[in-house]
Formats: sequence, structure tokens, C-alpha cells
Amino acid sequence: MDTTALFKLTYGLYTVCSNADAQQSGFIGNAVMQITADPQQILVASNKNNFTSDIIKTSKKLTVSVLSIHTPMEFISRFGYHSGRDTDKFSGCEVFYTDENQPVVLDNAIAWFACEVVATIDAGTHEMFICKVLDAAVTHTETEPMTYDYFHRVLKGKSPKNAPTYQINTNFNQPTKKEEIMNYDIYVCDVCGYEYNPAQGDPDNGIIPGTSFDALPDDWCCPLCGVDKTNFSKI
Ligand code: FE
Repeated sequence: MDTTALFKLTYGLYTVCSNADAQQSGFIGNAVMQITADPQQILVASNKNNFTSDIIKTSKKLTVSVLSIHTPMEFISRFGYHSGRDTDKFSGCEVFYTDENQPVVLDNAIAWFACEVVATIDAGTHEMFICKVLDAAVTHTETEPMTYDYFHRVLKGKSPKNAPTYQINTNFNQPTKKEEIMNYDIYVCDVCGYEYNPAQGDPDNGIIPGTSFDALPDDWCCPLCGVDKTNFSKI
């Protein structure tokens, strides 16, 4: 089975937020879709490990902000690769609260939805929230939405482990003439799941293929979420 076929499915990127009992959080999701028009309902999938999932299950409410194609990786990193359990993701963001006291993040948003959860489906690692749309608005009419394809191809973003589209890298065994490179260990970022493969290096940041993890400069950072080398583990 060629699992890269899954990359041919199309998605957007969204900031999904919820607030309950004075606790609020949000995450970057790609699994959001409209499922019915009458009533207007959307489906939102969230990893069970997401702090926001716990909040949604309490509040039975959530908001979805549709991200613009100009959304910087810094914003995606803040909401997508850190946990709301130990980070105030909303600090410095432009946020307003709906009539149901739900946070809508306006940063990089071109539209938003305020929703009520009417059903929850257990999908194994994820929960699927079926939501009735209570309110919605377009905030930027001329700006295109971010697509997951653009995120991958242009921004070089990768799916964090909590994303439904996360795939374990199975391409390690590529042939190489330099056996010593193949003996170098692969390291994974504990925060976002990015894998540093010495056989590939990090050419976008000046690290040539064949550079072991130990040989990376001390100021090298995860190209995906920006944390330093101390946040990596050998796999
Ligand atoms: Fe990372």
C-alpha cells in the first residue's frame, strides 16, 4: 500500500479553540469539513491528547478560524506544536469572545465559525466533533485560505504526531555509498515529531547530508517548531 496517496487528499489549516471553566486552549487542525447544509454542520477532528479536546468535551462548544495562505510558521508553531497545558497560546493574539464566551483567534484568519458540538464520535486516536454552526463571518474577502498542500510544499511543514495526517517516516533505508552515515542515529524532536535524518541533513538551514546529530552546531534549531537540540531524542 502506498500511503503517500493520502497526501493527495486536500485540506485547509484552521485554528480550533474552546473555553470552559475559565480554561481555554486551541490547536492547529487540518481535519475540518462541512458535512450538511441544512442544518449547517461541520466536522472537526482532534487528537485525544490535545488539551483542547478535554476543554471541548466540557464546554460542548468550539470555534474554528480559517487560516490565510500568508500565515507564518511562527503562528502555526505556537498553536500547533506546543501544548496549552504549559503555554498561554493566546498571549499577544487578537481574540474576541462569542456570546457563548468562546475565543475566536483573529490572527491570520480570513473567516471564523462559532459552533456547538451536537455529537462526538470516537475514532481511536482522535475524536470527531460534529458541530452545528451558530455564527460565522468572513474577515478577509480577498485573501486565499492556507491549504495543507501549500503548508507541506512551500512552508516545508510536517504533520505533528497529534495530527490525523501524521505518518511515520519509513524511508530510512535509502541506499547510500557511505555506510558510516547510515550508522548515524536519527533523532526526533520531542515537541513536534520532526525527525533529523543525518543522511538527509537539513539543507534549508545549511546542514549538508551526512552530518551527524552530534555534529550539528549548538545553535541549530528544529526547522519545524524552533526548539533547540536539547529537545531531541535518539530513536
Ligand atoms: Fe520540533
